[in-house]
Amino acid sequence: MKILVVGGAGYIGSHMVKMLHDLGNQVITFDNLSSGFRDAVLGGEFVQGDLADIPTIDKVFQQYQPDAVMHFASYIQVGESVQHPDKYYLNNFTNTLNLLNVMVKHDVKSFIFSSTAAVFGEPEYVPIDEAHPKAPLNPYGRSKWMVEQVLADYERAYGLKSVCLRYFNAAGADPSALLGERHEPETHLIPLVLQAISGKRPHISVFGRDYDTPDGTCIRDYIHIVDLCSAHLLALKQLTVDGVSKRFNLGNGAGFSVQEVISVAEQVTGKKVKVIDAPRRDGDPARLVADATLAKRTLGWAPVYTDLATIIKHAWAWETKVR
Ligand code: UDP
Repeated sequence: MKILVVGGAGYIGSHMVKMLHDLGNQVITFDNLSSGFRDAVLGGEFVQGDLADIPTIDKVFQQYQPDAVMHFASYIQVGESVQHPDKYYLNNFTNTLNLLNVMVKHDVKSFIFSSTAAVFGEPEYVPIDEAHPKAPLNPYGRSKWMVEQVLADYERAYGLKSVCLRYFNAAGADPSALLGERHEPETHLIPLVLQAISGKRPHISVFGRDYDTPDGTCIRDYIHIVDLCSAHLLALKQLTVDGVSKRFNLGNGAGFSVQEVISVAEQVTGKKVKVIDAPRRDGDPARLVADATLAKRTLGWAPVYTDLATIIKHAWAWETKVR
């Protein structure tokens, strides 16, 4: 297939590009490199462009005539989205509409959308299935939920079919260590812990030890990046075969606390890390765990790197790679 990967130079997008390319697909990455890296795009064509620039998107569709689009390009920092909602609604929402409108114009009907567990807001129950109420607590989550709703309207009006994949905590790295997590600034727990272990940072802060969890620290569902990408692949396959739009929650279904992540990171690396207790971070629910049964049943998705030590081992191989 010929697949346009928007945001293919970012953390998740670059792993997706590699997987698609390795499997023999024709891949075109479209990325403005605002947070991605050109050298993370390991196959296919690369076009540097911005989703605010409709004529450039149009040109890409004219030139490559993709069969399907995967859309990873978005801002992802919850705190920043509260400070600068304009930035989030413009990029994550308005610019996504630009992309969808060009798809409609060129009659491209298959769309895979990176959504998020943040569409659910404060969990009413855990594990969180697809039916859980959607009540995002911040502009980041709202921008994603708004796109999900628009997609239902675009299907009714224009026949555009989509799969929305709601990620819990994407983590780890390609086992080859050719790719890994590179955010600037880094805000995610696993890379921060590993950078503290490797000496790039002085310590790791634990944001709150007074949550209603067994060890008092927050529990999250860490899903290996390769398993996340394999779910995209299956979703795309199914969408192009049955043409039925769907929504899936993607996680391991197992939660790990911040303290467990730190302990496993110490075991995997054989090194100690300096830990500092810090206040709670605004808007962090105590426990976020996915019920991914629907994706497993419907797509035949079978995540392989489900244990935390493997996720951290792959992240560590990337972290310690000379580059
Ligand atoms: N966290 C932490 N210290 C850090 C970064 C994160 O204690 O330096 C905690 C954070 O409060 C949350 C969990 O680690 O409970 C995962 O946070 P992350 O930012 O990686 O992902 P999120 O769950 O916010 O998407």
